[in-house]
Amino acid sequence: MKQYKMWIDGKWVDAESGKTYPVFNPATEEIIAQLPFGGKADVDKAVEAARRAFPIWSKKPQAERSLIAMKIAALIRENAKELGRIDTLDHGTPTKSAAPMVAGKALNFEWAAYNSRSLMGHTVPQSPDELVYLQHEPIGVVALITPWNFPLSMVLVKLAPALTLGNTCIIKPPSIDSLAALKLAELLEKLDLPAGTVNVITGPGGTVGEALASHRGVDMVSFTGSCETGKTIMALASQTVKRLHLELGGKNPVIILDDADVNMAAGAMAGRQFSNSGQICACPGRFYVHEKIYDEFLDKFIAVTKKLVTGDPIDEKTDMGPLVSAEHRDRVESYIKSGIDDGARVVLGGKRPTAPPMNKGYYVVPTIFTNATQQMKIVREEIFGPVAVFMEKFKSDDKVIEMANDSTFGLCAYVWTRDMARGMRFANEIQAGTVWLSNALSLAPELPWTGYKESGIGEENSLYGLLEYTNLKRVHVDLKMPQK
Ligand code: NDP
Repeated sequence: MKQYKMWIDGKWVDAESGKTYPVFNPATEEIIAQLPFGGKADVDKAVEAARRAFPIWSKKPQAERSLIAMKIAALIRENAKELGRIDTLDHGTPTKSAAPMVAGKALNFEWAAYNSRSLMGHTVPQSPDELVYLQHEPIGVVALITPWNFPLSMVLVKLAPALTLGNTCIIKPPSIDSLAALKLAELLEKLDLPAGTVNVITGPGGTVGEALASHRGVDMVSFTGSCETGKTIMALASQTVKRLHLELGGKNPVIILDDADVNMAAGAMAGRQFSNSGQICACPGRFYVHEKIYDEFLDKFIAVTKKLVTGDPIDEKTDMGPLVSAEHRDRVESYIKSGIDDGARVVLGGKRPTAPPMNKGYYVVPTIFTNATQQMKIVREEIFGPVAVFMEKFKSDDKVIEMANDSTFGLCAYVWTRDMARGMRFANEIQAGTVWLSNALSLAPELPWTGYKESGIGEENSLYGLLEYTNLKRVHVDLKMPQK
């Protein structure tokens, strides 16, 4: 079993405390690594290093930083297989999707590289004697705090804009899934960045994450994770009025209208629901199906789900691996119990598998509830597991829009119809950052990803997302002044 170090100030170091903690393979329950148990002293060191690096990195010409971003993209592609294998090992990402998912994030660096080179400022007309111009500047030291559901991808999505635009970065990866972020640091080491430009600290959110969020030397926190942690970070960051970017949870409505293509909708939504074992913020959270097609849709959804292969994530045929940890499996199971206790009906799954190889590992089989009602915990809270929740049949478009919006979350929504005018009415009225109309396409670096309500603040990806990592400065020049 390997003992890892973390990357601070361009050096591989142990935690100041000398403490370590174990990392498990969720498919076998075996300890696969020991990582430094970072703490406040390590955060102080990383912040000092990142502050020292900032004037050097931020003053490099944008063209030079963009070239480095392109090199990072190439490194990600060349090493996608290995990086994906690591995500499979400590997270349980099925091999089928692990490497393509990581390789796809090379696009984020390329996109940031191109677009940061053409980020134009503006002049704002005033009087003929006065020139006013606006320019985008890097913010400073940015802490990137990321969740475990896509261990490396979530880091890359944030690092691409933050670094390319001239900020120095401290990555705090999920403590249970940090191995790929450490491998990334190993790759970045080859690029000879100024020491401290990128740092990776391993350790728990309660110490490393909180120390970063409250540190006076950190100028911005870009966080993806649960609403609960987002609120803690917001409170901590308020002490020094830091820039905040928050991508939080979702409980996403899926609305199947009576004119939907049932086959397409069932296939796409089952794929989305159980992908990554349901540990995706954009997963369907609540299914609202029109009474006219309810039975047909449910039957097809169950049939597609039954075909998904749950098992060892290393196996190329596996669609769905284990959950990330014993603690998370227990949490998902407690939601299943609460659904049953509240009167919802399990029509598929609901249990731990017992047949080998799944008699070990943190598996829960795909589970489908029906007869759920709006006030149940499984409808109001994010389960973040392989659990589809079907609400009672609906009749009226107005009523279903009201129910879809009756949530503290507002991340995304899916509406299936063949009538685009009807669909666009839903798109207009649903309170969510993304609405998929009769499709479930993936993300792209040029498309903004954002949450309404408690699902977040700010945009990831797109030009809007790029600008999140800049300060906007206004400069006034008095043209009447006699020139020397
Ligand atoms: P958490 O909020 O538990 O953790 C996210 C990160 O924050 C981890 O690195 C964690 O560290 C750290 N952290 C935990 N507590 C604190 C704290 N008190 N102060 C500072 N940092 C802290 O989320 P999960 O990792 O459980 O991820 C699942 C959640 O992420 C779901 O709610 C999901 O919806 C959301 N998510 C949202 C996305 C979006 O785009 N909107 C995308 C992906 C996920 P540690 O690992 O040590 O606990």
